[in-house]
Amino acid sequence: MNHESHTATSTDDVLPTVKTVDRIRLLGRISLYVHDWSRPQAGRGRLFEHAWLERLSCMDPRWLPILFVPPAVLLTWLGLQDGLGPPQVLLLVVVGILVWTLTEYVVHRFVFHFQPHGQTGVVVAYLLHGVHHAFPDDDRRWVMTPLVSVPTAVALYLGCRWLTGVFHGPIFAGFIIGYLGYDLLHDLAHHGHSGSRVGRFLRTYHFQHHYARPQAHFGISSPLWDHIFGTVGGDRPER
Ligand SMILES: [Zn+2]
Ligand SMILES: [Zn+2]
Repeated sequence: MNHESHTATSTDDVLPTVKTVDRIRLLGRISLYVHDWSRPQAGRGRLFEHAWLERLSCMDPRWLPILFVPPAVLLTWLGLQDGLGPPQVLLLVVVGILVWTLTEYVVHRFVFHFQPHGQTGVVVAYLLHGVHHAFPDDDRRWVMTPLVSVPTAVALYLGCRWLTGVFHGPIFAGFIIGYLGYDLLHDLAHHGHSGSRVGRFLRTYHFQHHYARPQAHFGISSPLWDHIFGTVGGDRPER
């Protein structure tokens, strides 16, 4: 990597600037292309030279329900099998959805938008979220690749089971439902095909994050936690 070409910013007001396109050698002949993600660019951004790696870094949103609805149903059923009543299961599912919305906010604000230092930091930040800010119109990256989401979900499930014991099934089912809603709504917001008021609101709300103030509007599926933590505001995006 050309170290001079990258400027990791010290404040959290702006996104990191990469003055030229960096080609970072990761392993052997595998390289990662890092584009400037301080401003949105038109078109699609290639991450890897190797076609198979490029394909693995993308995700078709039609796979999302196939991947995540069965475990959500199974975990809800598990709660009933463990002796919880239907109202209790329903309440725990709602708790799980709420926990997801907070997770979505915290992860987007503090993990996806961390300020990278050094080459490893730049690689992680760009792969996690930088590429989406560099190329917001790239429809291959509007939902998270299962290579990241599935292992993360398994680790979180184990943590949830350890923490909440007999209640873990419905709580994690709600968490998965929240995640599914978030990914589908993010895809919908970028597609812009929704004629509903809610769809139009979420699109305008999310586009403020992309095109006006990247340090605000971290909520994708709802603005709830932005209001609670004071990260709402900004001008209307120019599109
Ligand atoms: Zn987006
Ligand atoms: Zn972002």
